[in-house]
Amino acid sequence: MHTPPPRRLEAMTALLSPAALQGAGPLARLMRQGGLHCVFQPLADLREGSVYAHEALIRGPQGSPLHTPDQLLACAARERILLDFELVCVFTALEQWGRQQAAGRLFVNISADALVHGVALVGAQRLGEVVRGFGLSARMVVLEITEHERVTDMPQLRQAIKAVHGCGARLALDDFGDGRSSLRLWSEVKPDFVKVDKYFIRDISDHPENLQMLQAIKGIADVFGTTLIAEGIETRDDLRALRDLDIPYGQGWLLGRPATAPRAAVDGPALDVLHDRRVAVLPHLGQTARPGILRSLLVVQAPTASPATSNDAVAAMFHEHTDLHALAVVDGTRPVALINRQQFMNHYATLYFREVHGRKSCLAFANHAPRVVELDCDVDQLVGILTSQDQRYLNDGYIVTDNGRYLGLGTGDQLVRAVTETRIEAARHANPLTFLPGNIPISLHMQRLLESGTEFVACYADLNNFKPFNDHYGYWRGDQMIRLVARLATAHCDARRDFVGHVGGDDFMLIFQSSNWLQRCKNIVDEFAREALTLFDEPARQAGGIRAEDRHGVQRFFPCTTLAIGAVRITPGRFRHAEEVANLAALAKREAKQTASGVVLHGGLTESSLGALAATRALQDVLAA
Ligand code: C2E
Ligand code: MG
Ligand code: MG
Repeated sequence: MHTPPPRRLEAMTALLSPAALQGAGPLARLMRQGGLHCVFQPLADLREGSVYAHEALIRGPQGSPLHTPDQLLACAARERILLDFELVCVFTALEQWGRQQAAGRLFVNISADALVHGVALVGAQRLGEVVRGFGLSARMVVLEITEHERVTDMPQLRQAIKAVHGCGARLALDDFGDGRSSLRLWSEVKPDFVKVDKYFIRDISDHPENLQMLQAIKGIADVFGTTLIAEGIETRDDLRALRDLDIPYGQGWLLGRPATAPRAAVDGPALDVLHDRRVAVLPHLGQTARPGILRSLLVVQAPTASPATSNDAVAAMFHEHTDLHALAVVDGTRPVALINRQQFMNHYATLYFREVHGRKSCLAFANHAPRVVELDCDVDQLVGILTSQDQRYLNDGYIVTDNGRYLGLGTGDQLVRAVTETRIEAARHANPLTFLPGNIPISLHMQRLLESGTEFVACYADLNNFKPFNDHYGYWRGDQMIRLVARLATAHCDARRDFVGHVGGDDFMLIFQSSNWLQRCKNIVDEFAREALTLFDEPARQAGGIRAEDRHGVQRFFPCTTLAIGAVRITPGRFRHAEEVANLAALAKREAKQTASGVVLHGGLTESSLGALAATRALQDVLAA
């Protein structure tokens, strides 16, 4: 059933080894019969929504044990014809692409070793000519280097790469992040493209770690001037996240499966996403990151004593280093004790101390159980020190180690400051009460929306009569009420489109791209009014409120707590900075708190006129369609 090899492939036969030309193995025979073919998968331009190029993927006969690349590559290794096989793959791809007279760029897979081998066989000068022989221009060919760990000879690879660039073809690094030496290869090869492995792309919309990895990879790409291609895009959410990260090119089943013929457009569902200007809500690290690695732990480089150091020598060191609050006793690299300056000098000044103890080991007057803090310790461990019974750290300070090795000293007030700063920083990323994103992610999200030129609605939500409730029932129930707002806001927002942030206290930001944002807000307000009642006691529910002191200390009646939402519609080009949006939303919130209705759109519209506005918009949408 196999078709004889096309004529242009015959020239290639001259390049094959005797093992491939005469071998009796199934793959060698298949190759001689021309039984291999390629399928082509599109690579999309994620900014334009168009097909940018195709990747050629090798296939053996359908339904045979030599159908997939994995099977073929394994068989080639067994038959010891790997380099021959890879060259045949390249020629098959070029031949088929040329024969179809397909337009556009072609990405072709090849390992580094096969590239070196192929360039040597064909001759650096003749590469362009050989590609042209298949009816294509070398400028349209991109060689994807696969299996990075197989790079055995870097100087030779550099020569081969020079030859490839010399003929006008370009290079890509395949499956970046998969092999061990990829980063080194990236810096050595300086490829035009890097294809980021599916591992980092899959479920990126749900995995903040992968998102951060990709952002880091993007940073490297900027340094090297490399163009990124995301591989393995399977879902709309992942495509949305990649589009918003401004990854220029992508490949995956959502955009188009491999097929025998090239395609003119990417698949419909992917196109919808690419043409949709709304911005994806990216996962934030607040919930999943470790609660706070110490950022600002100051380490004082200080001289050390050893167990053999005498008390006289310690006194001399304190004299010499007048700013030293303590001295660590280190055995090899391991800290074993800490000598507090003040305590030690008090002893040292006593009568006959020098005569009796001066030449003895300093260990006798040292604290043998000093506080030791690892450099990358969790902030919670430090909080443990601050709240422990043993408060000696305030005077003695602590020893800082790196993987158990002595590094330096820290003081008590540095410890307090480090913990406080780390806590505050963490709270800016995620509110510790609701675990919702805090001010930094809120601003970042708004900034991204502004930069993307998309229309959105920023809402500031705040509780009415929360303070009297909190004073009356205590902070525990106050916290419950704040968590209720968080729960309802999250439940009524579309997690893919809308963003819920917790500014602090009873203040929340809701940033909507959902067109039915008004209905969602009303649902939140209504449901809150119902559910908040359960946090009051029966007499308060009967009375519709509580008696409590106002800000001036005067007893008066406060109705049960309700939610006010002030909204601002942000049209493209109106603002440049997130701060301007936040200020306007805060203004709208004040307006909302002054009216009886729960939701107010800045610009004087209240809930009823908003309802009419939404209805008109819906009608316009229907008419336009
Ligand atoms: P690769 O170069 O990374 O090619 C992409 C692989 O991912 C292809 O598998 C493709 O079908 C698959 N893929 C594409 N989109 C998606 C997606 O959305 N989800 C998932 N799960 N997979 C997707 P294929 O064709 O089985 O190729 C596997 C590997 O075999 C290739 O990985 C490449 O390393 C190698 N290979 C394929 N053709 C050739 C060739 O002609 N020469 C050489 N040397 N290696 C080849
Ligand atoms: Mg590839
Ligand atoms: Mg790949």
